[in-house]
Amino acid sequence: MVVGDVSTGTEVLVIGAGPGGYVAAIRAAQHGLDVTLVERDAYGGACLNRGCIPSKALITATDVAHEADTAEHMGIHADPAIDFERMQSWKSGVVGQLTGGVEKLCKANGVTLLEGTATFVGEQTARVAHEGEGRGSESIKFEHAIIATGSRPIEIPGFSFGDDPVWSSKEALAAETVPDRLVVVGGGYIGMELATVYAKLGSEVTVLEMLDEILLPYEDDVTRVVQSRAEELGIDIRTGEGATGWSNAADGGILVETEPTEDGDEERSGSDTDEGDIGEEGGASYPADRVLVAVGRSPVSDTLDLETAGIETDDRGFIETDERARTDLDHVFAVGDVAGDPMLAHAASAEGIVAAETIAGEPAALDHRAVPAAVFTDPEIATVGLTESDAAEEGFDPVVGEMPFNASGRAVTTGHTDGFVRIVADEETGFVLGGQIVGPEASELIAEVTLAVEMSATVEDVAATIHTHPTLAEAVMEAAENVRDQAIHTLNR
Ligand code: FAD
Repeated sequence: MVVGDVSTGTEVLVIGAGPGGYVAAIRAAQHGLDVTLVERDAYGGACLNRGCIPSKALITATDVAHEADTAEHMGIHADPAIDFERMQSWKSGVVGQLTGGVEKLCKANGVTLLEGTATFVGEQTARVAHEGEGRGSESIKFEHAIIATGSRPIEIPGFSFGDDPVWSSKEALAAETVPDRLVVVGGGYIGMELATVYAKLGSEVTVLEMLDEILLPYEDDVTRVVQSRAEELGIDIRTGEGATGWSNAADGGILVETEPTEDGDEERSGSDTDEGDIGEEGGASYPADRVLVAVGRSPVSDTLDLETAGIETDDRGFIETDERARTDLDHVFAVGDVAGDPMLAHAASAEGIVAAETIAGEPAALDHRAVPAAVFTDPEIATVGLTESDAAEEGFDPVVGEMPFNASGRAVTTGHTDGFVRIVADEETGFVLGGQIVGPEASELIAEVTLAVEMSATVEDVAATIHTHPTLAEAVMEAAENVRDQAIHTLNR
């Protein structure tokens, strides 16, 4: 032990206070376990501080401005002026309120909170180094550990997050000014959400995606709705182009260079590039003031000295776990982004609960069939369970029902009618296997489909449930009715 060290013990050591860690800590404490939660930065993790919450706050604020600006057809004439500094300070207030809430909840549940950086120094011992000179460190003996250290944005060659014009999502969410021109590298959900925010703030936005489509995990007819809306908002989407680097431009801005990818070569013959300056090799350069790199996230597992505790990772650094969130070691669990897909806050929390309950001796296990995912673009995407083709691959005889939002009374009253609800069911049994929604409030509507998948409800159960009128949720009921060709407000197939 070094001078200044103290030595303590705990039944459950949780490392990381994001939605995986703090939820695990609270649930373990609710079971009467002695829990110590270590956080090196801010309570709430990436989700509350630089992910879900600040991004959704900015999405809401820019939506309000955009709605007000485009409501002439409803007789509303407004010309909203955006005070970005005020918007950012409101967003920070939202974050502060929620992170403060996490700290209070942990304390109220009897969780011991420790500020510092944890590393393993043995199979059942960790050291927590406190920030700041002379603050020493603590050696903690634990019976069980839950690793919930999350993820960080991936850097790509040619773009260092240390360089002023290069943003990760963190800088994009904390910006002090709105760039006139923003290039977004990566057309995944984080890139597309932030591209939409900045387009609504008035930036000229270009999205560069190396694959031949954006929002890859989602089906074509789903992403098409988002892509055409993004284009209406003025977002220039370039697929099949990989960003290779940036240089300073004569006008004080920068130029983002790209090379065509294999996907891009196939497409390029028919493309009518009018913005990017195409070079002889087919590469292009895009003028910008800032470039946001959002190409994925990698696990924070390399700073924990995992090998000292005998914990292994896969070749990308993710910690492999079983359906109880347990690692190769019986007494060590890993939850959330550090344990790999799905890298979503609610999945992290669900895994945290399973880990805590397993430690408490409860019969808990993860059910990956019913993990919803949402993209908060304009309009939103939300999915759960199986697509029609997944279901066929898994040996079901899938049947689908759809309800377009332009046939929903409530959607028409909101003026947001792009998109549809699709329910995928098994023909023989009627069990709801999954759903895909693109349209207004998709992230809320998916909860009903998720419940149906989770409890093995049938399409008849959903169709026979009386829904409030007029609501967007009626579209879920009508999609279920449509599975059996019994929809009232849309033509059956
Ligand atoms: P994190 O939230 O990353 O928390 C890990 C914590 O561990 C951090 O606080 C970190 O400081 C701490 N830590 C790390 N190492 C140590 C150590 N050695 N000692 C002590 N503490 C340590 N997900 C959604 O579901 N919905 C969304 O809308 C959504 N939007 C997003 C938008 C953006 C821009 C981003 C970046 C992410 C978004 N996500 C969203 C993903 C979501 O934020 C993550 O899936 C979630 O935060 C993962 O939770 P976690 O607990 O695993 O890790």
